[in-house]
Amino acid sequence: MAAQVISGKKVAKEIREELKIETEKLIRDTGVQPGLVTILVGENPASVSYVTAKGKAAKKLGFNSIQENVPADISEENLLALVEKYNNDSSIHGILVQLPIPKHINDKKILYAIDPDKDVDAFHPMNVGRMVIGEPVFLPCTPAGIQELIVRSGVNTEGAEVVVVGRSNIVGKPIANMMLQKAKGANSTVTVVHTRTRDMAEHTRRADILIVAAGAPKAVTADMVKEGAAVIDVGVNRIGTTESGKAKLCGDVDYEPVAEKAGYITPVPGGVGPMTITMLMKNTLKAAQVAASKK
Ligand code: NAP
Repeated sequence: MAAQVISGKKVAKEIREELKIETEKLIRDTGVQPGLVTILVGENPASVSYVTAKGKAAKKLGFNSIQENVPADISEENLLALVEKYNNDSSIHGILVQLPIPKHINDKKILYAIDPDKDVDAFHPMNVGRMVIGEPVFLPCTPAGIQELIVRSGVNTEGAEVVVVGRSNIVGKPIANMMLQKAKGANSTVTVVHTRTRDMAEHTRRADILIVAAGAPKAVTADMVKEGAAVIDVGVNRIGTTESGKAKLCGDVDYEPVAEKAGYITPVPGGVGPMTITMLMKNTLKAAQVAASKK
């Protein structure tokens, strides 16, 4: 039986409608309009398109959206000063520095300078720690999007065997941590595999929920997947260009054969991708709600 396709596009739209209603309520009740600043260093085309999409999504929800474009040769000191300016601006609730930033700047120094209460990407060690001890304020956007997709598709996580392929700080480690929390939408038994794992398939074949964030096309093939499993493909690999000149994308999962065997599957594009920006919006709204409650 073919898998049920989980549409991230559809779920993201649903959540954005909910966020719009909540934003209107926040503005009506407290006068606080969520404010998001995105800082773009240089003109990397992928970064430009991510930042543009984030700004557009924020405006659509009724947020105050500011885009700061700074030259690629900005000094670390000046970039830190810009972050500090928005740390001290009470009309801004979320600060996002688009990665990657040029090599002459220590990216950790910049990310860790963001006020943790405005750290809507949730990369600051304070927010990572809060997540690990089960007291998150913000959850990192891509992992939060993955968890929403799983929960909203009605996939049971309670006691489920979750296998995560990949151990990056952005996806693998945080989603593994989130799924093992003693909480709704989690309570799973989690295994993490990576390039040093002895027999990866031995683990993935046990998975009720298989989350793949390797950045390697077809890293997961049908023989590595259990019949009926929920397969979440986080990978975005550029494998050429379409006839219209757009980047041709594929995930980390060998889609067609795996879809024949799995119970649920996310497509690439249109799966996890649209959820990431949506979760950024959710975090910005949350930051504004927290700020409003302290007024
Ligand atoms: P990353 O930092 O490169 O980490 C990849 C991880 O996967 C590493 O831990 C690596 O193991 C492991 N790995 C690589 N190839 C493997 C293989 N063949 N078998 C088993 N493990 C393997 O990547 P990332 O930032 O986590 O991103 C992963 C993918 O998700 C990328 O394609 C990225 O573009 C995509 N992504 C998508 C979104 C979205 O919004 N849709 C957001 C973030 C990332 P080692 O640690 O042993 O090297």
